[in-house]
Amino acid sequence: MPTSSARKIVILDRDGVINLDSDAYIKSPDEWVAIPGSLEAIARLTQAGYRVAVASNQSGIGRGLFDMAALNAMHAKMHRLAASAGGRIDAVFFCPHTAEDHCDCRKPQPGMLRMIAERFEIDPENTPVVGDSLRDLQAGAALGFRTHLVLTGKGEKTLAAGGLPEGTLVHDDLRAFALDFLAREAD
Ligand SMILES: [Mg+2]
Ligand SMILES: [Zn+2]
Repeated sequence: MPTSSARKIVILDRDGVINLDSDAYIKSPDEWVAIPGSLEAIARLTQAGYRVAVASNQSGIGRGLFDMAALNAMHAKMHRLAASAGGRIDAVFFCPHTAEDHCDCRKPQPGMLRMIAERFEIDPENTPVVGDSLRDLQAGAALGFRTHLVLTGKGEKTLAAGGLPEGTLVHDDLRAFALDFLAREAD
């Protein structure tokens, strides 16, 4: 059981979890296209009393593929579409660096999730981290979060490669995660 003081929150990766991913990066609002059912999943979580935070590596910034104005415009679109589905994304954290920057926020480093844990009152043991890449799960596992893999985006490849953190649960997509997670929480 969550302690009474711990806020209910779900932490999501962005590309390949909420929106379709691309090896060529998502560089503009037009390229930001929701995965079917993902916005409805966010709405279900919102309506069940969960805050939704996004933690996303965006090395395209550091590589000069797109700028902050483009990232802000993508996120404005994401917020607007989530709201029109009846949901809310409470916070978006992103790492703009490349691997060569050796920052503490680029997943699998846990810095972004640590910032979220500090901003919100979080009980990691009861907080799910949802991602499609191993590094999303490694960042979560490093801080003791519950790790969930979705098979959208890079998820199938991630599952096939193996080595998932112990206790990782696997779901077809964000919609399946939300239904399964909320059903378990209701028990
Ligand atoms: Mg991803
Ligand atoms: Zn970073």
